[in-house]
Amino acid sequence: MTATAEKTVVPVPKVRQTKMLIGGQWRDAQSGKTFETVNPATEQVIANIAEGDSADVDLAVKAARKAFDEGPWSRMDARDRGKLINKLADLIEQNFDELSALETLDNGKPIKDARAADFPLVIDCLRYYAGWADKIHGDTIPIRGNYFCYTRREPTGVCGQIIPWNFPALMVAWKWGPALAAGCTIVMKPAEQTPLSCLRMAELALEAGIPEGVINVVPGYGPTAGAALVKHPGVDKIAFTGEHRTAQIIMAEAATTLKRLTFELGGKSPNVVFADSNIDAAVAGAEFGLFFNQGQCCCAGSRVFVEEKVKAEFVEKITARAKTRKLGNPFDTSTSQGPQVDQAQFDKILSYIEKGKNAGAKCVTGGKRFGEKGFFVEPTIFDNVTDEMPIATDEIFGPVMSVLSFKDLDEIIARSNDTCYGLAAAVWTRDVAKAHRYAKSVRAGTVWVNCYDVFDAAAPFGGFKMSGMGRELGAAALNNYTELKTVTVSLD
Ligand code: ADP
Repeated sequence: MTATAEKTVVPVPKVRQTKMLIGGQWRDAQSGKTFETVNPATEQVIANIAEGDSADVDLAVKAARKAFDEGPWSRMDARDRGKLINKLADLIEQNFDELSALETLDNGKPIKDARAADFPLVIDCLRYYAGWADKIHGDTIPIRGNYFCYTRREPTGVCGQIIPWNFPALMVAWKWGPALAAGCTIVMKPAEQTPLSCLRMAELALEAGIPEGVINVVPGYGPTAGAALVKHPGVDKIAFTGEHRTAQIIMAEAATTLKRLTFELGGKSPNVVFADSNIDAAVAGAEFGLFFNQGQCCCAGSRVFVEEKVKAEFVEKITARAKTRKLGNPFDTSTSQGPQVDQAQFDKILSYIEKGKNAGAKCVTGGKRFGEKGFFVEPTIFDNVTDEMPIATDEIFGPVMSVLSFKDLDEIIARSNDTCYGLAAAVWTRDVAKAHRYAKSVRAGTVWVNCYDVFDAAAPFGGFKMSGMGRELGAAALNNYTELKTVTVSLD
């Protein structure tokens, strides 16, 4: 193909679905209300979406309950459930271009990333869990006496799934995959900023033949639709991804019905660069680890600790790289950084940049809005950051890197752990013992050594401390969607 024949700006996709899915039917909200979803690159309204509240959640939970208690799903041969999940993955693959463009439209992420990361991971995740459907089983247990004792892993039931806006479709796959494999039914509330890919994937789930009522989607706001799901007595479990403050509210509200809870929350992940590392690789990893997805990653490496003797070299190189990032139209295939998701996030990030400057950190690049339209923020790097500054303690969820210096391993382990979070950490070194000592001592659910943001459907992901409860992905996630039953049979 010649360069001129290559299409560099992908067309904006048509929005096909704006209603909610309840019991296999696409419906308006009972209140008739809708809310706007906005293109963060242009600040223009894309579509009006049915706005669910407690009345719609109630209907959706009843539909999910019926599908679980009476429907074919939880009683279907597990292998057939797996086939349907695979069919959904196939349909997503067949509609890959449309879905990727829809994600770019609603979330603002560069089309390059939606195509290279989000949707390949979505498809892989669903196929991984399709494979698990017929491999979820119990044990036989040699108890005392003349008994035959065995365990069964049974589906948890109706699962309320509340997801954020940073990886809208990928969060759908992380939640649906294990829930469907286990035989659960679902009421999902997508984030109000980004409902479109979830609605389209729900259409494809119906088309794949996943029975009606198994997947219900109620778009709407957190304190209304989300809270109604958390309080509903017909819901057995809530899986939530978002801010730890929201998780605290959910935990308190779920207490009355003692729902099972899993949380995947925020972080302030340390990314530690030793002088004996391959510095260029560490610089590239730090750029990816922080700026990928506009910095809107719960595991973003936002505290970059660099060993004192190489810090100047590191800062010079990371600054040069940050300056080469291409901001602009996310539908342009050469764009590497799109807008932040909405005005609220944009304002929050700019206020943290001000806090960084006021605290005395040195802004070496970026530090302001990019352009005049859309929620774009320049890739920003602060040098000379110290541990107590707000830019070093708080989750910013934007393209703002804090560089701090350190002298030795014990010091950096202590400083890495001096946070309420514990989602991820990374270490760059050629010394294998140092890498493993760090990996063992850091209180985080994921540790990357000489790499960053390596995700795989088979590798568990989740947080220590205030970064979460339970693990997503891998075999571990199946525990979130199954109840363990012990059966003891007298052999007398
Ligand atoms: P963010 O700041 O990333 O939007 P949130 O935790 O506020 O993080 O939102 C993540 C998800 O949680 C969204 O789908 C949002 O609507 C939902 N949510 C927000 N508040 C509540 C709540 N009180 N109860 C249930 N869900 C909520």
